[in-house]
Amino acid sequence: MKYKRILLKLSGEALQGSNKSVNIDPAVLEQYSEEIKALKAAGVELAIVIGGGNIFRGGQAEALGIDRVQGDYMGMLATVINAMALQSALERHGLYTRLMSGMKMEQVCEPFIRRRAIRHLEKGRIVIFGAGIGNPYFTTDSTASLRAIEVQADVVLKGTRVDGVYDKDPEKFNDAVRYNSLTFQEAYEKNLNIMDMTAFTLCMENKLPIIVFDMNKKGNLLKVAQGEEAGTLIS
Ligand code: UDP
Repeated sequence: MKYKRILLKLSGEALQGSNKSVNIDPAVLEQYSEEIKALKAAGVELAIVIGGGNIFRGGQAEALGIDRVQGDYMGMLATVINAMALQSALERHGLYTRLMSGMKMEQVCEPFIRRRAIRHLEKGRIVIFGAGIGNPYFTTDSTASLRAIEVQADVVLKGTRVDGVYDKDPEKFNDAVRYNSLTFQEAYEKNLNIMDMTAFTLCMENKLPIIVFDMNKKGNLLKVAQGEEAGTLIS
C-alpha cells in the first residue's frame, strides 16, 4: 500500500447522487461504504471529512436574510448530519468508526482532540471529522487539509465525480485535457480549481500531496490508495 494513513474528503453534494430531490441517497451511502470497506481491508488507516453542501452552505445565507456567520454554523451542522449518516452506513458494513466534531456536540460526537484522533486511527477505527474546523469562513476542504496535517496523514484523497484535474471544465468542454500529475506551483500558476486557496496553501506549505479522483467508479478508491494512476496527483 503506497499510503498508510489517508484522509478522504467527500463532498456533501455527492451524497445526493443523481436524485437531486433528496439530500441523502441510500445508494450512494451503500456504494461509498463498499469502497471504504475494501480500503480498510487492505490495512490502511482512514480519516474522513465530509461536506455539507447537499443541505446548507454558508454562501447561501445572505440570500435568505440570514447572517453569513450564522449561515456558516448552519453549514457546519449540515456536515454533522452527513457524518452521522455515513457513520451509520459504515457501521452497518461492520466497520469501526468514531465521529469527532469541531464543535461541541457531546450527545452525538466526541470533541476533536488530536491525540485521541491519532489513537483511534492507530487502533484501526475510521475517524470521521464533522462540523468542519468549528470556525466560520472556512470550508470542509480546508478542514480536510488541516486535519490531515494534524493527524499526519500521508495524502488527501479528494473524491469527486470527475476522474482528475483538467485544464478546463470537462463537463462543459469536450476538448478538456486531464493532468496525470502536477506540482503545487503548476496548479497555482494555471489557476486550476482544485480546492479553495486556504485548503490548497495548507497542503502546499506542508508538502501534503492531494489526489483528485472519481469516487463514483468502482474500485477506484483502493486503486488510488495503492498508488495506481487513477486520478491527478498534486505534489
Ligand atoms: N463551514 C464552515 N467552517 C468549516 C467547514 C464548513 O463555516 O470549517 C460551512 C461553510 O458555510 C460551508 C458549509 O459549512 O459552506 C458546508 O461545507 P462545504 O461547502 O465545504 O461542503 P461541500 O461543498 O464539500 O459539500
